[in-house]
Order: sequence, then C-alpha cells, then structure tokens
Amino acid sequence: MTERTPDFETLAIHAGAAPDPATGARSVPIYQTTAYVFDDADHAASLFNLQQLGFIYTRLNNPTVAALEERLATLEGGVGATCTSSGHAAQILALFPLMYPGNEVVASTKLYGGSINQLSHAIRKFGWSTVFADPSDTDNFKRAITENSRALFIEALANPGGAVVDVEKVAKIADDYNLPLIVDNTLATPYLLRPIDYGAHIVLHSTTKFLQGQGSSLGGVIIDSGKFDWMKHADKYPSLAKPAPEYHGLVFAETFGELSYTFYGHAVSLRDFGAAQAPMNAWLTIQGVETLPLRMEKHCSNAQKVAEWLEKHPAVSWVSYAGLASSDYYDLAKKYLPKGAGSVFTFGVKGGYEAGIKLVENVELFSHVANLGDIRSLIIHPSSTTHRQLDEEAQKAAGAGPDVVRLSIGLESAEDLIADLSQALDKAASS
Ligand SMILES: *Cc1c(COP(=O)(O)O)cnc(C)c1O
Repeated sequence: MTERTPDFETLAIHAGAAPDPATGARSVPIYQTTAYVFDDADHAASLFNLQQLGFIYTRLNNPTVAALEERLATLEGGVGATCTSSGHAAQILALFPLMYPGNEVVASTKLYGGSINQLSHAIRKFGWSTVFADPSDTDNFKRAITENSRALFIEALANPGGAVVDVEKVAKIADDYNLPLIVDNTLATPYLLRPIDYGAHIVLHSTTKFLQGQGSSLGGVIIDSGKFDWMKHADKYPSLAKPAPEYHGLVFAETFGELSYTFYGHAVSLRDFGAAQAPMNAWLTIQGVETLPLRMEKHCSNAQKVAEWLEKHPAVSWVSYAGLASSDYYDLAKKYLPKGAGSVFTFGVKGGYEAGIKLVENVELFSHVANLGDIRSLIIHPSSTTHRQLDEEAQKAAGAGPDVVRLSIGLESAEDLIADLSQALDKAASS
C-alpha cells in the first residue's frame, strides 16, 4: 500500500476505533461500567500512582469515552483530549489547570451568551476573573493582558451573528506574551476550521452541537495541541510544572511531556470536579462524528441559500452571515472557512421586538428552542429569551438587540425552510 495520510473523512470514521480487543466488535462498544477489576494489588498501586496506564473508575476514564477522545484529538490535530459532561464543563476544566486565585483570563466579547455569564460571574467564586476584549481589533487582546493573565479565550467562528476572529493574529499575541490560546471551536467544528493549524494551543467544544449533530446528548471536550511549554513558564503554571503533592511530588509536565495537560485533565480535573462524560453520550457523539463532513457540507450550503434569500426579503433589514459578500467577516471567512461559513447566523426583522416574537410564533418547520447545531432547523429571538435579563443597551452590545433573530440551519430541504420563513415573515409584517 502507498503511504498516505488519511483524509478528514476517513479519520472521522476510523480514528480511535480499532475493533474491540475483547470481542472483535466493529462498532465502538458502549462500556457501560463504573469500575474495572485490577489484576492484583501491584497493578492497582501502579494505576493509582499514574505509573501505568489503564482504567480505574469511569469518572477518570472509560474505553468508549477514550475512543471519542482519540477521534476528536485526531480531527483537531491535537495530541490528547479530555471529554466532559457538557461544553460549559469543558470551559471550566480547560481553565482549571492554568488558574489560581487572582489570575485572569482574557476573553473575546463575541462568545456564546452562557460563556459570557460563566466567565463574568461564576468563575469569580474561584477568585478568577475575566478581562473582555473586542476581537474586531486583535490589538485589544494585547491591551487587556496583565501579569495575572493565564490564558486567552476566543470563539473562532463566534456566537452570535457568525463573527470570524483572526485566529492566527491572536495566536501570535498569545505566543508573544507566553500565554496559551484556548479556542471554543463549537460553531466551526474541525471540518470547517482547525485552530491548532493557526497556532491555537487548546481547542474545546460543546459536543452537544454539531459533533453529536442530532440534539440528543450533552457533552464537551478539551483538546491539547501539546505545543505549549509549561516547564518554560513553571512559575506561572505550577499545577503542571511544579510537584503535585497528591501524586507524591510527580511533576506532570516532566512525566507526561506533551500529554501533561491532558493527563492533568483526567487525573485531577475530572477526578475532583466529577464532570465526566457518560459512556452512552460518548457513543452517541461517536455516531455523530462519523457523518460530520457530510452534515457540515449540507449545513453550510443550506445556510448560504437561506441567508441569500433573506438578504433580498423586504421585511428583513440586515443579515449577518460570513458567507455573504456584505458581511464584515467575508474576507476572514474566505481565509479561515473556505468550505463554508457554518450554519448559525442572525438577521434583523423590520418591526423590532414585536415582529421578532410574531416570527418565532408563526414558524412551522423551524423549532423555537435555545439550542444550535441540530439536524433540525432552529430559531430563537434572543431579546425575549436568552438575553432578556439584559437592558436594551447591553442586548445591543451582545448582538442581541430587539430586532435580532438567530437561526441554526439544519438539513431539511432549503426550499422548505425558505417557504416556512416566507409565510412566517408575512405574518410578522402584517401584525
Ligand atoms: C452550547 C455552547 C456552549 C455550552 O455548551 P453546553 O454543552 O450547552 O454546556 C459553549 N460554547 C458554545 C459556542 C456553544 O454553542
């Protein structure tokens, strides 16, 4: 056979999934177990000391979850991965090895609403805090960095309104200031964009969305590029680069090298937070990932058709989709998202708040839900739902003003989706 590096489509099906060693099962089995039998006392001791690899307890790792971890690490071009119970758990656990009380994360202002909440309020209880930077000028990240900064955090293709961030420029700043860049790649998926190829150090996902694909199960993942040198900055990252008392003084970065962040994720973060992914959810996500390339192609081509149609509609004042030439992000999308600008975007309905509500109440095929990245097409009016606790100024700053409607385009026929929006827009305009 000729030597070939397998293509993405092949890896989406085969990476991390050798036939089951016990039975030969071809599909990854669901290892629905809590614990694993030790060979003897020495075997148990060496597993607990992290001297030997193996399975102890499903809160730390599990063969089905491990298959998903290897597959997603491969697809993102990373060296290791840690699956978590949800995307939000992935965000906390991505920061946990890096942060101590008093430390800061520098985060993009263009993030999923739940992430803004988590980074603004919840993490303060750990003594961590966030400085936000508008990514439309990447120099804002430089200005926000202080001696307490421990990570940069962005979404490459961002919520809401499909903003595209210049990942390569932010990664350069991260390198200049010796900080890891964490990218939430949920909206793009590795099929459309691989942030590690542009210098990101850590990638995370809510696997709940496109990776699972059918809106059936929550999950998250943290993938490490293995490229950040923790030992070189040992004073800033003592969790990884100084002796760990609970493991007899083991230094993760010394013992596990490029896998140290991933080992810490399992041996400490999952152990102590308990936010492990259930084997059943990992299995459902493995099924989803196998068709990711096909689904993303169709998500993108459908979204492009719907966005182009909306842009010409008299009841629509603007459409923010990076696949349209009118978008501020069109050039960045051509560079970073050549296969398509994703399937989540916003538009403005004429008639503001009332028209937005009428629209979501009159769609028939679209589902009115607070989710995205489903096989089904979804619609939401942020100012009456996800962003309703904010005042109008804050809603506008978050891209969720009263006229904003967000779509997540699914895999139905584009013509049917357009027909549904057409009848609902007519009803919203006549009210
Ligand atoms: C949904 C989402 C999250 C949160 O993930 P959960 O799995 O719902 O916890 C984080 N980031 C982005 C971009 C998301 O879309």
